[in-house]
Amino acid sequence: MPRYSITTFGCQMNVHDSERMHDVLRRAGYTEAGGPDEADVLVLNTCSVREKAEQKLRSEVGRLARWKREGEGRVVVVAGCVAQQEGERLLKQMRTIDVVVGPDNIPELPGLLGDLALGGLPVARTVFDLDAPRFLVASPPPASRAAPTAFVTIMKGCDERCSFCIVPHTRGPERYRPSDEIVAEIAALVSAGTREVTLLGQTVNSYSDPLGALPRAPGASADDPDESEFAALLRRVAADVPGLARLRYTSPHPRHLTPSLILAHAELAVLPRHVHLPVQSGSDRVLRRMIRRYTRAEYVARTRALVEAVPGLTLSTDIIVGFPGETEDDFAATLSLVREVGFKGLFGFKYSRRPHTPALKLPDDVPEGLKGERLARLFEASEALLAAHLSGLVGTTQEVLVEGRDKERGHGGQGGALWSGRTGRHEIAHIEGAAELDLLGEVVEVSIARANKHSLQAELTEAARAAARPRQRGAAEPRPARRSLPVVAAEGG
Ligand code: SAM
Repeated sequence: MPRYSITTFGCQMNVHDSERMHDVLRRAGYTEAGGPDEADVLVLNTCSVREKAEQKLRSEVGRLARWKREGEGRVVVVAGCVAQQEGERLLKQMRTIDVVVGPDNIPELPGLLGDLALGGLPVARTVFDLDAPRFLVASPPPASRAAPTAFVTIMKGCDERCSFCIVPHTRGPERYRPSDEIVAEIAALVSAGTREVTLLGQTVNSYSDPLGALPRAPGASADDPDESEFAALLRRVAADVPGLARLRYTSPHPRHLTPSLILAHAELAVLPRHVHLPVQSGSDRVLRRMIRRYTRAEYVARTRALVEAVPGLTLSTDIIVGFPGETEDDFAATLSLVREVGFKGLFGFKYSRRPHTPALKLPDDVPEGLKGERLARLFEASEALLAAHLSGLVGTTQEVLVEGRDKERGHGGQGGALWSGRTGRHEIAHIEGAAELDLLGEVVEVSIARANKHSLQAELTEAARAAARPRQRGAAEPRPARRSLPVVAAEGG
């Protein structure tokens, strides 16, 4: 039986696409290898949102030339956004690659590999499924418990035209999935043991049901061009899948943070008190040139209304520094916005010129060194906000969804002995003194003992300890959640 291995770079969308590739390959008779060295087929699922990510693919493929020579019949597949962006060109530029497959062509992967095994030539399939969009559904997990958290795609593509962004080119126009299918997938996941679902889409809150199956959500205005059916979808999931503990979503666009969505946050207990809402810049001049279609004042007003509706809700964001023409004043406006909104988390990126984007017409005139300096100042501001927030939680009681064992040393030096998970506001919490208990997938009450730089150290409350199941010796270890490799480790905040 041929064995495969998948390496994932980039965003949650790519992690999710990799999950679908696992499904498609397993169903076609492939088995997952312990690692690339044991694999016959190596899939690199790529990201092209910043240039660094693309460079990473190129150096990885360079290394793989040797891997290929060392085993007969070894195959290299490039999937994801670089595959979609470059198509056939990749095959011409890098002879090590055998198959290039775009995100919409994942179901064709076994067929392409089969043709290759019969002596076919290297091939690229990068065709958008515009007429009949396909949304691959997670196959029921094997006998072991499902991972506590899962992604569910509700839309693909992007109709925004942010001038820096390559996504409309690599993912095509927006296509939405019928709400019936979304609800059915979530219900199946929950009955297999999943507790938290994250709805995925490039502008996830522009969702509308292609079959018109959703009633208008309370608070939705027919005259508001920014209104969508996203709030109605959230309400339907909450009503139809009562066993779901948490319903997150990423990435929303600030334009679609409408009154109906704010009302849904106020009324639905399943929505955690945290939203990641990319702002990109705090300067109106830069926002205009980025074609973000909102002003700083609009962003502030909408997020303020959200926090007023859901006291204690925290926000995190994405910010680009060094966009063409960004002056010191523009950057100062971004810093002041970070403090004004009080983001409790931030992914910061140096602007990177991308092919097929409107911003290519603008000179990349902020020097690299200055971009780095601004990024460092941005992180300094956000780390200070996060540190104050986390230390303010010491001594409080929080509910944590336990996602797995903490494999990393450094949190008290007890690698593997700590359970870790997230609070409802998405803070990472490491749970001490519970190694003998089975907490996987449980929402447990903890008291916060200490604050680390980016996370919390917690202990089970007496009631939670009394209610917990003891860990059974020899029980299968939980299925680890798959994660992507950071493509900009130095930049991600
Ligand atoms: N669709 C989401 C949005 O824009 O709201 C996010 C998509 S993107 C995968 C994640 C982040 O990458 C963006 O929010 C932006 O901060 C960053 N990004 C996108 N294009 C970039 C570029 N050309 N240079 C630097 N950062 C970029």
